[in-house]
Amino acid sequence: MKIITKNSRETTILGFTLAKKLKGGEILALRGDLGGGKTTFIKGLGKGLGIKKRILSPTFILMNPYFLKKKKIKFFYHLDLYRLKKPAEVLSAGLLEDLGEPDTIFGVEWAEKIRNILPKKTIWVTFKHLGKNSRKVEIKGKYGN
Ligand code: ADP
Ligand code: MG
Repeated sequence: MKIITKNSRETTILGFTLAKKLKGGEILALRGDLGGGKTTFIKGLGKGLGIKKRILSPTFILMNPYFLKKKKIKFFYHLDLYRLKKPAEVLSAGLLEDLGEPDTIFGVEWAEKIRNILPKKTIWVTFKHLGKNSRKVEIKGKYGN
């Protein structure tokens, strides 16, 4: 699925809508341009998962966990790998330990940096900066239609 969004709200809604389809265990790998809307999308996703807390980019610690009061999905892990130097760092830090666990959702910004580590079932979301307010978002894999 490819969509052009014309403001950050539209990108938020895309994330929100996807969140409503998730069952648990999904890994969302976000890649593409700086300022392309990855964090904006994650904010919508978090809202859709019922997270009330404001979602901020985990710039210094690479990962922010959120605890959900849902039946099946208990954790949302937001990773931002912008500052990651070596893919192995995420493994040694244990950040991917719960990857694919049925009670977790992973949302990984700059996931292209660890694409070799991510499982085949990963849902890839690609962001392209087209203009001041224009972004192209492409969702591939499950829920990509
Ligand atoms: P990334 O995490 O990919 O670097 P962000 O979501 O942090 O991107 O930044 C996107 C910036 O662009 C935000 O300031 C947002 O308000 C702005 N913006 C403008 N138009 C859009 C759009 N169509 N979709 C998403 N963000 C947009
Ligand atoms: Mg970001």
